[in-house]
Amino acid sequence: MIIKGIVVSPGYACGNAFLLNEENICVNKNKININDIDFEVSHFLKSHKETVKQFKKIQSNLLDEDKKLLFDGYIILLEDESFINDIIALIKNNFISAEFAVDKIINKRVKAINKVNNTYIKERINDFLDIGKRLIYNLKNINNFDFNFLDKENNIIIISKDLSPSQVIQFNLKKIIGFITEFGSINSHTSIIAKSLELPAIIKVKDVTKLIYNNDYIIIDGIKNNIYINPNKNIIKKFKSKNKIYLYQKKKLIKLSKLPAKTLDGYRIKLFANIGNDEEIKNILNNGAEGIGLYRTEFLFMNRNSFPTEEEQFYSYKKIIEFMHGKIVTIRTLDLGGDKFLPYMNFPKESTPFLGWRSIRIYVNNKNILHDQLRAILRASVYGKVRIMFPMIISMEEVFFLKNEFLKIKYEFKKKKINFDKNIKIGAMIETPAAVMISKYLAEELDFFSIGTNDLTQYTLAVDRNNAMVSHLYETLSPSVLRMIKYSIDAVHKKNKEIGICGEIASDSSVTMLLLGLGLDELSMSSNFIPKIKNNIRNFLWLDAKKLVFDILKFNTIDKIKTLLKKKTKFLTY
Ligand code: PEP
Ligand code: MG
Repeated sequence: MIIKGIVVSPGYACGNAFLLNEENICVNKNKININDIDFEVSHFLKSHKETVKQFKKIQSNLLDEDKKLLFDGYIILLEDESFINDIIALIKNNFISAEFAVDKIINKRVKAINKVNNTYIKERINDFLDIGKRLIYNLKNINNFDFNFLDKENNIIIISKDLSPSQVIQFNLKKIIGFITEFGSINSHTSIIAKSLELPAIIKVKDVTKLIYNNDYIIIDGIKNNIYINPNKNIIKKFKSKNKIYLYQKKKLIKLSKLPAKTLDGYRIKLFANIGNDEEIKNILNNGAEGIGLYRTEFLFMNRNSFPTEEEQFYSYKKIIEFMHGKIVTIRTLDLGGDKFLPYMNFPKESTPFLGWRSIRIYVNNKNILHDQLRAILRASVYGKVRIMFPMIISMEEVFFLKNEFLKIKYEFKKKKINFDKNIKIGAMIETPAAVMISKYLAEELDFFSIGTNDLTQYTLAVDRNNAMVSHLYETLSPSVLRMIKYSIDAVHKKNKEIGICGEIASDSSVTMLLLGLGLDELSMSSNFIPKIKNNIRNFLWLDAKKLVFDILKFNTIDKIKTLLKKKTKFLTY
């Protein structure tokens, strides 16, 4: 039997299923006697203390600073006074058990977060559930977290309704070789950790805990998104050898990291990394990133209760800049709105938020947000090579506004004798058709550009990038979007400025040849993809890539474009 889900961490795994059955935790919902209230409160406080201790222990066993940070967040949530007081008040006022009170308060918080129309914030639901689960297990004296019970097993694939980040972090990777869950989400910490541990994982597999039994033989094909349940011997043999080749090639690709991203006839392109938070910087140099082409700073502003101060931002930027040792770090200023909101900032209810109060439009009435961020970046700029990039530009008026505000801050710094990089470059995302059409003028005012194909595709085709009803129409390889990209590259190059792509298409190795043929100076992507893209680049001629673009731009349908692209690039292994 073969089933499917969503691959969040690629790779192969062949082993025996272990079902993590956590469904049957019963919370005692009976009313308690007035005489038992003190006991329940102290029982809660003891378990709370134990839970904090356990998280701190897991944290101290971790070597990776970034993963340690995740548990800082857990401990802050747990030690929040209002969280503790709300639980105690519920026990006292409603005469209910500590476990029921914890369950109620966690659910209340989860419901509140669920109302926020923001995927990033929704990911925090898992953190709350993780904390709640552990608290209730401790209240019930159950230990289902340390996975020591798997000590004698080998090659285990965990099957579960869902997994918390703290569970995945504790996996003994010598024994657990992959996981499959029924729920989960792509941007959750669980998925991010799976990816950084390079643990093959597939989520959102319907009814997986009913379809798979303990000790079933499972193959995760995290390349083609297939899960095999009790396959025959031949299939097992085939996947074991596929896995060997996959691991060998991965090692070989990483060795490319020191080599330049250069075509056979010498066309050199820069391969940069996209990052959204500190967690992602760890591997980018090993993967051969030559810089950071897009640092989405929104993460820094989310998962908290107030704006980060200039000082906090400064330390975050400095940390990343220093880590990059003089390589370019492109910091994009805050790109809120659309589907990204802050719990501590009032956003109007809009019928079309992607066309509404978004990005730099927010700065006009909230200059302090822009100023604090620019000050923090400028202060950090002395520690390496920084570029500032503005999102969602649609007009020259916006460019003049932003340059003027930037000038004011630089003037303030000079007056106060604060050091900053005097040659710092400022650039813009080209992610609206408006920016494409004025790219010639933009290139007269700004130093560099990066095409945000994710938004450019949605705005060119009038297709909401998050709307499943129209996702079949969302196609960056459509003739209209390709022409937008070509138009911008040519206009910017005429003014001798550099232009790259930082949208998702940059990581799609099946279009790398086309992108190079368009004449881009830089591709920026999640760094895991860099070795593969580089390998591709080193195996074709730029001359052929240019010819490919020439031919493709003659076509007027997506189908014809894709067919030719496939035909002309099939000699490359994706
Ligand atoms: C884009 O729009 O292509 C882009 C890189 O920005 P984001 O995905 O953050 O909107
Ligand atoms: Mg964008």
